[in-house]
Amino acid sequence: MNIANLMAGAGCTFGENPAIAVGTDLYCTYGDLARRVATMAGRFQDRLRLEPGGRIALAMANCAQFIEILYAAWHAGLCAVPINARLHQREFRYILENSGSRCCFVTPDLEETVAPLLEDIPTLEHVICVSSSDYDALFVGDVVEMQERAPDDTAWLFYTSGTTGRPKGAMLSHRNLMAMTLSYFADIDGVTPEDCIIHAAPLSHGSGLYNFPQVAKGAKQVIPASGTFDPGEIFELIAAHRGVSFFMAPTMVKRLVNHPDSGRADTANLKTLVYGGGPMYVADLKQALACFGYKLVQVYGQGESPMTITAMSKAHHADTDHPRYEERLASVGVAHTVVEVRVCDAEDRPLPPGEPGEVLVRGDSVMTGYWDNPEATERSLKGGWLHTGDVGVFDADGFLTLKDRSNDLIISGGVNVYPREVEEILLLHEGVQEVSVIGRPHPEWGEEVVAFVVRAADRGVVEEELDTLCLDNIARFKRPRAYCFVDHLPKNNYGKILKTELREWL
Ligand code: AMP
Repeated sequence: MNIANLMAGAGCTFGENPAIAVGTDLYCTYGDLARRVATMAGRFQDRLRLEPGGRIALAMANCAQFIEILYAAWHAGLCAVPINARLHQREFRYILENSGSRCCFVTPDLEETVAPLLEDIPTLEHVICVSSSDYDALFVGDVVEMQERAPDDTAWLFYTSGTTGRPKGAMLSHRNLMAMTLSYFADIDGVTPEDCIIHAAPLSHGSGLYNFPQVAKGAKQVIPASGTFDPGEIFELIAAHRGVSFFMAPTMVKRLVNHPDSGRADTANLKTLVYGGGPMYVADLKQALACFGYKLVQVYGQGESPMTITAMSKAHHADTDHPRYEERLASVGVAHTVVEVRVCDAEDRPLPPGEPGEVLVRGDSVMTGYWDNPEATERSLKGGWLHTGDVGVFDADGFLTLKDRSNDLIISGGVNVYPREVEEILLLHEGVQEVSVIGRPHPEWGEEVVAFVVRAADRGVVEEELDTLCLDNIARFKRPRAYCFVDHLPKNNYGKILKTELREWL
């Protein structure tokens, strides 16, 4: 089983179809792309002397070459190590060393950062810029046969975003990626050769993982020409392409909705907007639904079970008459078809609906382990179940609502306060742009609730208003005892709020 079969198949069946476009310009068809991939794979073998199982890293902004390098690596039996392009040199060094990558591809913007690492990382032998003649030379010569891979061989080393501690490399096998691809068709959306995905989010993460269903069906991959997330450009691309889908973090969806073009843009060509990777607050979701209609799908996953723990379908979003519609909007939907999901107590015993506990996952999409880290693997996959570290609760219909990471739970006076619940309420206030709630040590209560608030630019808000809002909506003990008004919230490179840093701010 080699996931690169999807590309070979698309080259054969959908050879004339556009495979990659940059903005609105065609980069290549599937026929061209499959040939480029099989040629490059040959040069990985005969010129770079890379053996099956070896690692190739990609420290690259979103670009067309990203996709051909990924598939060439798999075609040659190698493992790809896509790295978030916005990391610090220190973090690139760590991941390149930890993964033992012998070759790293870079986009021009990252060449200066990564090339010097050749001198201090003994295992790293080549840094190749995609705009260099060295890169072009990889397409000269014969195509080679695809290498056979076992289903459990690692295809993608997915470094976790590391909101705490060092990133760990989740080993995603060919089987994992295939299961994820099939679950897209089962739980997210159908794809036709006339469709496309616009890679607005990093290809090293969720958007890149969603290349597979599109390749499998000969649909087009569109790379925004800017290589970054620019809401104005995204609206233009939606108007220019047909059958458009996306993966976006909730913060990106919010930026689109708040953009001045959102009211007047023509979004008729938008087919599916998948959001996930972090909490989507109900107030923001309602605004997004008002803006785009019932084209939203939510996904909850993590690097360790890529894009596949639960999903909330378009139909669920549109089921406004359901008696528990509001609660459902605050949930992450129901288990993906390819996995079993449980909520368990500290001894891994399943809990009944209504009782919060850790979310555990088992199935073909769950990683085989962490690269070179047997202790973390053992902890994470204890008993054959992935321990997500997320706290969640099922309702009687199988909808999972995430509370918070277990580390973020606040225990005040012996009672649990889930920050998310307080954040949802504070966000109901028009004067609140962003909010994050954490616990602060308290001599009597153990911890007390503190809220960091970013005010909306056009509307002020004061502490008393927020206090009243909380008193009207949640139990007294959950309301923040202090508010810190700040200009921005600290975020990591994936846009996730760093509560560890907020604790330091305190
Ligand atoms: P990563 O491995 O970087 O993708 O991060 C995965 C983590 O992001 C999960 O364990 C959750 O804590 C969080 N997450 C992912 N999807 C969602 C979602 N739909 N809603 C809330 N949190 C999410």
